[in-house]
Amino acid sequence: MNKKDKVNEIKKRVGERFNGRCEICHIEWSPRGMTFHHISYKDTDKKHSDFGKGYDGMLDYYVYLEPLILAEPERFAYLCNTHHQVITRFLRFSVDKQDRIFDLIKRSRY
Ligand SMILES: [Zn+2]
Repeated sequence: MNKKDKVNEIKKRVGERFNGRCEICHIEWSPRGMTFHHISYKDTDKKHSDFGKGYDGMLDYYVYLEPLILAEPERFAYLCNTHHQVITRFLRFSVDKQDRIFDLIKRSRY
């Protein structure tokens, strides 16, 4: 099994703790992949960028992450990469802007 397959095996195994589905769209698998979103970070948490590039670093990261997620699943969400990107981009805005954007979205439902 290559490193990409090992990463996907970890994601699938740990994702089962989250019903194996993206919390937003409920798909089980995306061609763009699935990932874990940090709802909250601890000071001691390492970030993906602390690990190496490519599948070597990615595998090291997910081997590191698995026990953290299993110990405190409430700090994480299982998402498809499309929705993870939406969430992480949205979070770059200030809380005031997030509130105004969300308010506008709610007022724009057709
Ligand atoms: Zn999704």
